[in-house]
Amino acid sequence: HAGPIETDAVIVGAGPVGLFQVFELGLLEIKAHIIDSLPHPGGQCVELYPDKPIYDIPAVPVCTGQELTDNLLKQIEPFGATFHLGQEVTTVQKQDDGRFFVATSKGTTFVTKTIFIAGGVGSFQPRTLKVEGVEKYEGDSIHYRVKSPAQFAGKNLLVVGGGDSALDWALNFCEGNKDGNPHKAESVILLHRRDGFRAAPASVAKMHELCEQHEMQFLVGQVSDIVENDGVLTGVKVAGADGVTRVVPCDAVLAFFGLSPKLGPIAEWGLALERKQIVVDTEKFQTNVPGIFAVGDVNTYPGKKKLILSGFHECALAAFGAAPYIFPEKRVHLQYTTTSPKLHKVLGVE
Ligand code: FAD
Repeated sequence: HAGPIETDAVIVGAGPVGLFQVFELGLLEIKAHIIDSLPHPGGQCVELYPDKPIYDIPAVPVCTGQELTDNLLKQIEPFGATFHLGQEVTTVQKQDDGRFFVATSKGTTFVTKTIFIAGGVGSFQPRTLKVEGVEKYEGDSIHYRVKSPAQFAGKNLLVVGGGDSALDWALNFCEGNKDGNPHKAESVILLHRRDGFRAAPASVAKMHELCEQHEMQFLVGQVSDIVENDGVLTGVKVAGADGVTRVVPCDAVLAFFGLSPKLGPIAEWGLALERKQIVVDTEKFQTNVPGIFAVGDVNTYPGKKKLILSGFHECALAAFGAAPYIFPEKRVHLQYTTTSPKLHKVLGVE
């Protein structure tokens, strides 16, 4: 690209809230560029729970994380936002003319009048197994997320962790015999450092039930080493609570230790933070830097709840808050999508 892309709005983060920000800006006829470090839109919904049902999106009784994302993408289609995926926003600098210079890890640069940070929990960094030599097996036989469950069908799995992800996936790969689940593993061992869980009690009960039926095995201990043969992972060593280290054979290890909240470069842009979240007002969801707004999980204010529906509301107010930076002359009025001919035009539904 020759020079920086000049635009009215840059959205950092293409999670559900960043996507809906495109919509709210679009209604006010503000075009946006949207950037995400992940190679696909959807944020946590797609990265962490694409197949899990969400029940608290207003007027959508149930949809999965992936469905929510697909619907948002469809809803924002009329506004023709430009997506820049697989690149992290590294630099945000205020220029003398009041606009902002934005740069990504891939060298894409922008000059923009406003910025909407919808960075959620930050760039995704799953906590990894702290064992020597794991790196070369990552994505091959050691996994920190499940992208396609089918790849684990018929395998001997070791699932590590004590939260909902570990329990849900252990149950998912184990229970296939009941409902013809095509993802059923050959065997499932659940490993956690203690006999206590941070997961839904129903899942824990189900896990104990499956263990009693010898369909799953639960071990208390920690992975201490990798067992390999000719460059192929054949198992791990597990240091048990009793002080004994045992070899646990397996084809694949799925470790779920959660994400470490890595705000990443966002922390370096001179924005007021509180516990790694961006402080905003609740009138415009603007940060301490005029022209920079923050919406969704990344922000904090009194009473903040990290819910998708709260993020959607924040997007609407942030868009109105930003309009004067883009159209200083224009008075922006609230209009209904139902009845406004002007909104019908921007939505392409005339
Ligand atoms: P995110 O979804 O976190 O997206 C932020 C995006 O910004 C990410 O894609 C990230 O890669 C990107 N990003 C960050 N920093 C940068 C950077 N510097 N450059 C480029 N990109 C960057 N909420 C509900 O309301 N209902 C539910 O039922 C529900 N269930 C959940 C279940 C689970 C298992 C989890 C983990 C969460 C659940 N949530 C639920 C919470 C919900 O997913 C979040 O509130 C929501 O995803 C926040 O959206 P967001 O767009 O603000 O951030």
